[in-house]
Amino acid sequence: MVFPEFSEMDILSLEFCPWNSSEMDILSLEFRQFSTLLDFGFPSETPHGGFCMQYALIGSNRHEPFPRGRGICPMCGSGMIAKCGPHVLHHWAHEGRKNCDPWWENETEWHRTWKNLFPEECREVSLVASDGEIHRADIRTPTGIYIEVQHSAMTDVERDSREGFYRNLIWIIDGRAFLKNFDVLHELPDPNSEAALDIVWFKAKRPSYGAAQGIYYRLSETRKIYPDRHFTKANIKANIDIMVKIHSIREIKADVDQAYRGHHQYDWIRPRRTWLDATCPVYIDFGNDHLARLEIYDESNLPCIRYITKKKFLHDVMVETDASRIATRFYPLPG
Ligand SMILES: [Zn+2]
Repeated sequence: MVFPEFSEMDILSLEFCPWNSSEMDILSLEFRQFSTLLDFGFPSETPHGGFCMQYALIGSNRHEPFPRGRGICPMCGSGMIAKCGPHVLHHWAHEGRKNCDPWWENETEWHRTWKNLFPEECREVSLVASDGEIHRADIRTPTGIYIEVQHSAMTDVERDSREGFYRNLIWIIDGRAFLKNFDVLHELPDPNSEAALDIVWFKAKRPSYGAAQGIYYRLSETRKIYPDRHFTKANIKANIDIMVKIHSIREIKADVDQAYRGHHQYDWIRPRRTWLDATCPVYIDFGNDHLARLEIYDESNLPCIRYITKKKFLHDVMVETDASRIATRFYPLPG
């Protein structure tokens, strides 16, 4: 057996308590792969498909769970039972073991905290596509932006289908589980700034010497060395035969400071690749005041993150109508 740390009992118990812990999340992910190997035959919604929701209908009103509460699922009309035990995040569960939305994720404290940053009417909003497909988004802002708050790992297929379904979608992913594998490295100047235009950065790596601290070469200098060749940021890295003059970020520190707008190089060891391939914006929450948005820095295809404060994010998603426009316009925020 390839799973020495856990007994079969441990693994079975995961099915019923995937709550609140990133460790548990990793365990249950491994469990999922493991169960595929062993063909345990668990229904596909366990342990991650989730049955739990923050709201159920009682009459025509949405209610949060309360002890011995009974309600109706706003999506499928099934009966729901409030689960308000001392050791779980209070939630509604479908009667029986059914869940009407296969995309729905078991809620963690982190998940619920994010939803609660939005007005009640923005949370757990159902969307019906023209072909009748129906899903329940974590958050829909009044301006029509959908936000999915994602704690557990996800396949490419599922990410693709959710992006296709919601379209005007933003991902917020829980970065606490991979924080120690994610190094935020040196600052970058705003890619549209004067300081950035002539510069091609080397991809920074975890070891804290060399490129991690910021090294680059200049397009203009390289063009002077090879006057007959046509270099752009987009094509220059493909020219592996050329020599370039390497500079350190220290030479332009003042310019970089001046043009800094939150961009950094990063190195993500064993990345969750699906998020790098996402077509909708991905914001990582590492548990502090900022979100780190995954971006491509410039035409050289350099990956970078951009820090955006949660305050700015929460303001913009309630004001902008297009998910891609978050944190593109800066002006003083109220309060
Ligand atoms: Zn339902």
